[in-house]
Amino acid sequence: MKLSSDKEVAKKSLYFLNSFLLCVHAIFLIFFACTHVTIMAVMNIFSVLSYFISFWLIRKSKTNHQIVITFFEIMIHMFLAVMCLGKDCGFQLYFIGCAAVVFYAEYFSVRLIGRHIGAVFMSVCSGVLYFLAIQVSEWRGVIYPLDQGVQKTLMVLNSAAVFIVCIYFYSMLTRIANYYEDELSRQANHDKLTGLVNRFYLIDHLQQIFNAGKMKDYWLAIVDIDDFKLINDRFGHNCGDFVLKSMTSIIESCCGELIACRWGGEEFVMVGAMPGGKEAEAAVLETVRKTVAEREFVYDSNRIKLTITIGAAPYLENQSIDEWISVADEKLYIGKHSGKNQLVI
Ligand code: GH3
Ligand code: MG
Ligand code: MG
Repeated sequence: MKLSSDKEVAKKSLYFLNSFLLCVHAIFLIFFACTHVTIMAVMNIFSVLSYFISFWLIRKSKTNHQIVITFFEIMIHMFLAVMCLGKDCGFQLYFIGCAAVVFYAEYFSVRLIGRHIGAVFMSVCSGVLYFLAIQVSEWRGVIYPLDQGVQKTLMVLNSAAVFIVCIYFYSMLTRIANYYEDELSRQANHDKLTGLVNRFYLIDHLQQIFNAGKMKDYWLAIVDIDDFKLINDRFGHNCGDFVLKSMTSIIESCCGELIACRWGGEEFVMVGAMPGGKEAEAAVLETVRKTVAEREFVYDSNRIKLTITIGAAPYLENQSIDEWISVADEKLYIGKHSGKNQLVI
């Protein structure tokens, strides 16, 4: 699911709810006027008005006021409807729908304006009114007895309306929860600057392959930019970031099936199965090294040349992941202390 922004989704949902309820009440208004249920016809004039006010409140971002007005409108309307027509017309079902949907409304009120609307209290009120309306209408008898056929039709329509609202809101809520869960795990596993997977993800990933006993033909290379600190010092931190992003593109373009990771700072790791052995690994890593050495990184009209040093090691049987990484790190150390700009394998 693509959510352009949670505020946009929140507003869209509120507009949907408001439009839906406005239509439902407009239909009620016509229906009650035609069936001479005067109390409900008058009530629905106020209801329709309240939804027009609600549109204005949503536009003005007064979400909590809009939700409270909508809630009260539904409570009063449905209570009166059960009093007037009895429980066989199904108006009490809106109390059940309301008790559930207020939590979604609370969620969006918090996201939109950072304010709680008291969803638990509203939900409990809704539940109490559900029982109260049924009890009182049974005790006092209905004010406008309707034909049984009309009652059945109303029951079907009201049930359908409650289902539509619940299905819409709960499907939205599930989509939002899934979206944020995916987004959180993406953020936890990826480096923000380069978009590459981070060290924590890579170690977990390697550990899984290790546990499954599938480390055969695996190679790991640590790529470190030479004298990167000088780039920051001479051209600024933003230029350093630009170089890191450009470096990412180069590494990714040479990676093929290998995984590229931002290990930290100006260090990257390339890892994966390389059935061709040392020659195949050396060919890939030399391509990366040469591409970087030949590239001119242009930032703010500064033409920057730089090099990288790479330490690489195959996975050896009975090695732990840490030992394997340490071997590659030692190779990198050797490269750094013997002139840089080289691959030590
Ligand atoms: P060597 O050739 O020995 O690797 O030297 P070096 O200068 O590349 O390494 P050193 O460890 O001395 O400096 C690394 C620098 O990388 C220091 C730090 O400020 C910089 N750095 C780390 N992360 C970032 C980042 O995200 N953005 C920028 N612009 N700089 C970073
Ligand atoms: Mg380093
Ligand atoms: Mg470095």
